Amino acid sequence: MSTRRDEFTVLVLGGDGIGPEVVGAGVEVLLAVAKREGLRVEIEEDLLHGAAWERYGTFCRDETVARAREVDAVLVGAVGDPRFDDYLADDVSPVEEGTEAGAVARDPADKDGLMRLRRDLDVFAGLRPARAFEALVERTPFRPEVVRGADLMVLRELCGGAYFGLPRGIERLPGGGRRAYDATVYTEAEIERIARVGFELARRRRRRLLSVDKANVMESGMLWREVVSDIGAREYPDVALTHFYADNAAYQLARAPRDFDVVLADNLLGDLLSDQAGAIAGSLGMLPSASLAGLPPSGEPAKPGLYEPVHGSAPDIAGQGIANPLGTILSVAMMFEYGFALPALARRIEDAVERTLATGPRTPDLGGEAGSAALTHAVIDACRESGPG
Ligand code: NAD
Repeated sequence: MSTRRDEFTVLVLGGDGIGPEVVGAGVEVLLAVAKREGLRVEIEEDLLHGAAWERYGTFCRDETVARAREVDAVLVGAVGDPRFDDYLADDVSPVEEGTEAGAVARDPADKDGLMRLRRDLDVFAGLRPARAFEALVERTPFRPEVVRGADLMVLRELCGGAYFGLPRGIERLPGGGRRAYDATVYTEAEIERIARVGFELARRRRRRLLSVDKANVMESGMLWREVVSDIGAREYPDVALTHFYADNAAYQLARAPRDFDVVLADNLLGDLLSDQAGAIAGSLGMLPSASLAGLPPSGEPAKPGLYEPVHGSAPDIAGQGIANPLGTILSVAMMFEYGFALPALARRIEDAVERTLATGPRTPDLGGEAGSAALTHAVIDACRESGPG
């Protein structure tokens, strides 16, 4: 039997836009819950993406990656700074297969600090839960009877597929004009490891796994479907496996979100479906995520792990103190569950969020007029009410 650890180190990377604002809220909740539980959490801070470029001339330093590997968990805000859009759109030569990773400007990890962190830490499993919060059901685009009770987990492959596949690039054609291309590339081993995480998550939930692909038109989708089916038949006969083409999955998710449990998808399709799943939560600002290098057995901490809201840097509301911090606070709950292996504290934060939504202040995206600070403090108060003193 493992003894409960009581000391943790967390690296905090606020990033850009509303990132530093929402991680500030997340850290407040993290420290409040830790203090009440007698846990010692040491916070270290560093810069990522635009903020890192401004100070160090790189979107993500080697030191940041090294420290992210060592700590118990990394809390990330969001990346994306419009000031760098021109730089990132620079026309550069294509990256061909076999080119040394990181040596060329078109490598996505060179253009995006968060992509580099995900790739270098090999956190290939993006866990993105989405559920209908009772207090926000009326704010969703769904009829209450369609969305009430919806509770699903999109599992997005994060380190392969169209976002990292080679070759990729934009090239000038001899006759004039340009040609752009990306490649959706997956090895059997990459599909196997994400599929196993999907089946394991399903076993911890309602034992249903939906695998999403475009096997009808894409070679990578055909291999994806074959490998997922094989793993399911051989290793997880107790999990009900279904396959949908991605277009049908998007339609069914909009039609009957309660029918879904775990949804497994590649990097690109998972990106789309996890934002779409966010509609059932009432706001993009509500969605948390954990990016892990696998799913350890229950009771063991996952390391390394990035915990981050699904939303971006929201430049339109940055600096106004009105960003919804709940996606980040729920990411802190996932940190307690997966990074610290303390699921009871994750449930306490989730319950506190639910109760706060019912009666407490709301930020504008949730239909209220409160600022981030008021909402954060209401969640901390609700956490205090529910836990042992
Ligand atoms: P976004 O998620 O930043 O914003 C979309 C809309 O949702 C905006 O209207 C924004 O105000 C609102 N919103 C987002 N989070 C909110 C919150 N917590 N509270 C209240 N409202 C919130 O997406 P975008 O505008 O398409 O992208 C902006 C930048 O963020 C781009 O540079 C993009 O590349 C980047 N981005 C980063 C991540 C990430 O860091 N994980 C994810 C998506 C987009």
